[in-house]
Amino acid sequence: MKWSFHLARIAGIDVRVHATFFLLLAWFGSVYYAEGGLAAVFTGLSFIILLFVCVILHEFGHALAARAYGINTPDITLLPIGGIARLERMPDKPWQELVVALAGPAVNVVIAFALYIVVGRLFAPGEFQAVAGGDGSLLSKLLAINVMLVAFNLLPAFPMDGGRVLRSVLAMRLKHAQATRIAAAVGQIVAVLFGLLGLFGGNPFLLFIAVFVFFGARAEASSASFKENADETHVAAIMQPMGPVLAPGMTVAEAAGLVMAGRNTVVAVTDPSLRLLGVVPVASLADSLRWDPSAPIDPLVRRDFAVVASGASLAETVTTLRDSAQELFPVVNAAGQFVGWLAREELAKALGFRNGT
Ligand SMILES: [Zn+2]
Repeated sequence: MKWSFHLARIAGIDVRVHATFFLLLAWFGSVYYAEGGLAAVFTGLSFIILLFVCVILHEFGHALAARAYGINTPDITLLPIGGIARLERMPDKPWQELVVALAGPAVNVVIAFALYIVVGRLFAPGEFQAVAGGDGSLLSKLLAINVMLVAFNLLPAFPMDGGRVLRSVLAMRLKHAQATRIAAAVGQIVAVLFGLLGLFGGNPFLLFIAVFVFFGARAEASSASFKENADETHVAAIMQPMGPVLAPGMTVAEAAGLVMAGRNTVVAVTDPSLRLLGVVPVASLADSLRWDPSAPIDPLVRRDFAVVASGASLAETVTTLRDSAQELFPVVNAAGQFVGWLAREELAKALGFRNGT
């Protein structure tokens, strides 16, 4: 993430802090200073820092649970709105996602329980409000905030952990994309409720959360339908016709005659059984036509060309396209026969990318 600083490396995971987090500290610092001088700055900021330590431990809960399923987490970044553990991927199995999603809040449950033992008593309802108002000892405030973190994170709304819990439970019965759509819809309803509460209760923080949740839910739903699309559509469904095909030993003039008809910037070279041998860029054919039309095309054939399989899903093809600069990819079937072309643009369209992204 841009503008983030490396803080530490713990259990093989980089802990980073985003620059805006320091702005948050500076802002709270100045507020505390105005209220009660340096002493207030010290107690106020130590609470915020301890709170964010709890947030980082929460993220480690997710990361270490994911590691148990062989999923790495390169880094955890601390932002003013909370922490983000960047998991390499989400687990595919619903019950694994459930465990990973619950592991974060579970850490806060453990912290809250430990603090409860230390503090030695449970909050009476009135006391809880006093704590929220800024009274109470540092430890009892931390206890209260950990309980709030658990409750907040278990809201059944993306991007909160509760959204993932809901999705994974639904996915045990439904298809992944369908489970996500339902979970996202529930999340948006929660967001609207929060928005109304914030609006009529005059609480800007709730309004902020509502907007955050609403767009988080939408992003999750669209990434799920993207995934569904990419997994279930095959290259064969979106490839273009083969166009002219060249054979080794043809002369440049013969090849040029065939290629005139096509619109592509490259032509395939195959053996008589259509097994793909390589490609010839039309530009190099046009070049040779000027110098020696009777020369064979063989020296022009390029073999360092990325090829995609007609039976591959679009999701499997994305990495090939990412690692290559080609605009066109020859498509071969399971027998290695040339069957068509996949245009980068066509794949982007099928996956729902907009131009320029
Ligand atoms: Zn979490």
